[in-house]
Amino acid sequence: MPLMNSQYEAILRTYANRQAKNRRELEERLAGIQKQIPALASLEASLVSLQAEKVRSAIADNRERKCSLENEISLLQNEKKRLLEAEGYTLKDLEPSFTCPDCQDTGFIGTEKCHCFLQAEIDLLYHQSHLKEILKQENFRTFSYTWYEGADRETMKRHVMDARFFIEAFDTSFQNLLLLGEVGTGKTFLSNCIAKELMDSGHSVVYLTAFQLFQLLSRAVFGDHHGQEAGQQAYPYLFDCDLLIIDDLGTELPNSFTISQFFLCINERILRRKSTLISSNLDMEALKNTYSERTLSRIISSYTIRQLPGSDIRIRKKLQSST
Ligand SMILES: [Zn+2]
Repeated sequence: MPLMNSQYEAILRTYANRQAKNRRELEERLAGIQKQIPALASLEASLVSLQAEKVRSAIADNRERKCSLENEISLLQNEKKRLLEAEGYTLKDLEPSFTCPDCQDTGFIGTEKCHCFLQAEIDLLYHQSHLKEILKQENFRTFSYTWYEGADRETMKRHVMDARFFIEAFDTSFQNLLLLGEVGTGKTFLSNCIAKELMDSGHSVVYLTAFQLFQLLSRAVFGDHHGQEAGQQAYPYLFDCDLLIIDDLGTELPNSFTISQFFLCINERILRRKSTLISSNLDMEALKNTYSERTLSRIISSYTIRQLPGSDIRIRKKLQSST
């Protein structure tokens, strides 16, 4: 189901705002640089006129002149680089910077939607615009082993290495991951590390708590008109996004309908060879009892299963900060 016009326009507006912000920042940066390096303006003007002359000499087929102009241009470019570097700038500072260099913040590459546009659709449909803020806090750079002791620390290092492998091999091998562990052992943090790396490399990620997923599955069929519409709009991405993260499986209240829909969802993704990452504080036995034997057997046959060590990190963090 395509986006409604108002949703589409809302996304386009964010691109227009981003472009305006980039332009403003570039203008301010250029004004600052020119103020600091007054010689830059006349050097730029000379470069422009030399480039124009080079084109004219090429058209006139005057190779000798073209060659000598090229030398002059190269000298001036080196001089420009030197002037900039003396003040702590690089040539890149004279160019616009983009949030998404792939589409230069237009949302499109040719006539195709850019991956960032697809992610914007997902963020809008799943109300996950806050996800990027969370991922700024919870990623591999901020991951700390401090909260794991002794053998737990070694186990966690292996799991982090596995997570990095999951990311590196993401485009070449089909993998799914089930992270098991007690409440507060870092499952969500590790999922977020993976989500951030994959989003940064242009993959589409849908992040849902199990509660949100089951609510969506249920609403799409049993909800009011608005709920059904929202559910049906979101459905295609559940099956097609590059990575679906289902966090905290076992904290929702499933019923026979949502359990069968859950099976459909993970099975469909396996058939489409789309990766899924599930985290749960249940053990295998409880997963089987709650979500049926066939669901568990699909997970066992297609998922890498990792048990996270340790007890509740959040409690330990709190204890330490209060001492
Ligand atoms: Zn883009």
